Formats: sequence, structure tokens, C-alpha cells
Amino acid sequence: MKFTEFGLDERILEGIDAMGYENATPVQEQVMIPILQGKDIIASAQTGTGKTAAFLLPLINKIITEPHDDHHINAMVIVPTRELAVQIAQSMEGLSYFTNVSAIAVYGGGDGTSFTTEKKALSSGVDVVICTPGRMIAHLNMGYVKMQALRYLVLDEADRMLDMGFHDDIMKIISFLPKKRQNLLFSATMPMKMRELARKILLNPLEINIAVSKPPEQIVQEAFVVYEPQKIPLVKEVLRRKDFQSVIVFCSKKQNVKQLSNELKRSKFSIEEIHSDLDQIKREQVLLDFRNKKLKILVATDILSRGIDIEDIDLVINYDVPNDGEDYIHRIGRTARAASEGTAYTFITEKEQQKFAEIEELLGHPVTKAQVPEQFGPTPAYNPKARRPSHSGGGKRFGGGGGKRR
Ligand code: AMP
Repeated sequence: MKFTEFGLDERILEGIDAMGYENATPVQEQVMIPILQGKDIIASAQTGTGKTAAFLLPLINKIITEPHDDHHINAMVIVPTRELAVQIAQSMEGLSYFTNVSAIAVYGGGDGTSFTTEKKALSSGVDVVICTPGRMIAHLNMGYVKMQALRYLVLDEADRMLDMGFHDDIMKIISFLPKKRQNLLFSATMPMKMRELARKILLNPLEINIAVSKPPEQIVQEAFVVYEPQKIPLVKEVLRRKDFQSVIVFCSKKQNVKQLSNELKRSKFSIEEIHSDLDQIKREQVLLDFRNKKLKILVATDILSRGIDIEDIDLVINYDVPNDGEDYIHRIGRTARAASEGTAYTFITEKEQQKFAEIEELLGHPVTKAQVPEQFGPTPAYNPKARRPSHSGGGKRFGGGGGKRR
């Protein structure tokens, strides 16, 4: 479907054109019209599907075509991570470039100046606020945020927000908002707790399901069955095999990120790390260098697995097996975007075999087990059933992530 068929304002069509979009993606086709009609929606849509523009375009259109108060906040988008807030703000800037709609990203971790800038915007009125929950609450508690005229609320990556323990923060923010508003909820997965949250927030929502929990077919997926101490040397070996231009190595814990990144730096690889202990300025600098291909290898926690759009990644290495099948798909989905080829390697230690078998179940097929080079010595056999705890009846598919910062 062409963007011209949605009845969007000319100034928005210009922005779409400048962004280089021609046709709407399936998510955009399905959600834009109901949003324009004023409906609440709950959509299961993953990153990489064009969901950001799917909610931003109708919001911008509503703000510029309906009477509204310039001195109040019109729309709020709540997101789990600072990176996602920045990325959505950038899309907003591009798509609304030819309009006079204003937006600000409000997230923690910056310096005192950013808090002052945010305070100024929130108290004098800005059309769209894109925020992380904790930072927004800090502003709301000070009493100057102009919420009385807010009409649109978006929760993006809502499942991730619940995993990170933001349920109460979200409800607290909502307690500050006018009751009459349009609500849009996007989530990659729809566990029970998500439906409960939706029941509390949405009014007669239209349910749209566009999630495809399958990785793109052009990703070559392989796994190495190893002992823990073999992992670091194997990362080095894999990185030396081919001249990869852009690589992300995902670790489940920041301790592993730090340890691996020290080792790789010592071996003179072009590498930086990213996790929640780094300050915001450093995180943004590392991401920028990686995006611009100045930096070849990024070692990261799951903070980067969802929502972040970086083009042309050749290789994703799962240094640890992700906790959750959806996380696996998100992580490996960083590669092979835009129909190019990509490779995803996963390292599986003995105690992770059961978890990986569950991921294979979700994928619907086993992942090829690659040969660990002989010089690494003996490796464990892949036999997840033998390692299945006796109480596991197979009812539960995936373990949760918990509420920690990653
Ligand atoms: P998202 O799922 O929102 O993270 O979007 C994934 C990527 O698709 C981003 O780089 C967007 O700029 C891009 N994108 C969104 N909508 C379209 C479209 N209709 N045509 C081409 N690219 C798009």
C-alpha cells in the first residue's frame, strides 16, 4: 500500500519521501488506519517491521490536523531503554521534519544540562515526549510537567518493560495522565502479564497480531557446543576466520561483557563494549562509531538486542545462550537485515543445553552444530534431554529475564 493512500497531510508525505520510504510495511498497513480513526490498539509487532513509523505517522498527522494546545504535551511514548528513546526521537525528527511538531527524548544517564533542557520542554509544552519510565517519574514528581491536555499514550516494547520491572513505574506515570486519551501498546510477545497490563490501560482495544517469531531465512545459524573456558579463545578464532566488517557479540551478563572485551582488546581487535554501567555519552559514542563502521566489533548485553536499528551486521555471536527464545530471535535478527546475508553463532555450555533445546523447539528445527577446531581439545556432547532436570515436564517453554538492568 502506498503512503499516499492513508490520507496523510502533505507535509508528512514529504517527510516520508525524505526518509526514502515508498510503500507501507505490513505493520504500517494494519495499524495506521485504526490509529487515525482514534482506536486503542494492542499490537504484537517486532522491531525491524517498521512499527515506529506505524505509530509516529498517525500521531504526527493527528497533532497537525486537529486543534491542540501548543503549551501542553500532546503525546507520550514510553520505552524501555535510552537507546530506543534516542532512536525513536531520530525517526520523529525525520518524519516530522516538514511540520512544526516538536519532540523531546527524556531519559536518564545524561548530565545536569539534559535534565534542565528536559524540564524546560516539559514545563513549557512539547508535542511529543519519548521517555524511559524512571526519568519521566523524576520529572512528574517535581510537579511542572504539563500533562492536562495529553491525548495519546504509546507503550513501545511493552514486554521488555515488564521484564525489566517497570510495571509499577508505568502505572504511576499513567496516574498523572488524563483519563480520556488514545492508547497504543506494542509488544513483541503477549504473555499473560501483558494482557493484564493491557486490561488496565486500554479501552476496547483492537488486537493486531503481526508478530512472526521466526528469524529471517537468510541468516546462517550455527552453534558450538563448548566448555566455558573454551569460549574466549573460540571467539578470537571465529573473528580471525573471515574479515567480518561488523560484529555484535551478545553476553547475558555485564561481567562477561567486561571480561571478553578486555581479552579482545588485549589481542588488538577493534572492539568496544556496551552495557548499563557505561554513562550515556559513552554509550552513544560507541553506538555511533559502530554504526559508522569505525568500530568493527561490539560486545554488548541484551540492552542492544531489541529495538536498535543498525544496518549491515555480518555476524552475531551469542557468547551465552539467551534466556528466552524471543531474545534469541531478536539478537540474531540484528544480522541479515534488509535481505542481506548474515551469520549467527551461538556458544552452548553444558548447563545451557536445555535452554538451547527450548529455543530450537521455538524455531521448529535444530540448529547445525559446528565443529570446534581440534586444537581446542575435547568438547561436551550435545545431549540436552540427558541434562533435562527430572521435574521438567516440558510445559514451560521459556524462562523469564528478571527485573535487572543489563
Ligand atoms: P522499526 O521496526 O520501527 O525499528 O523500523 C525498522 C527500519 O525500517 C528502520 O530503519 C526504519 O527507518 C525502516 N522503515 C520503516 N518503515 C519503512 C518503510 N515503509 N519502508 C522502508 N523502510 C522503512
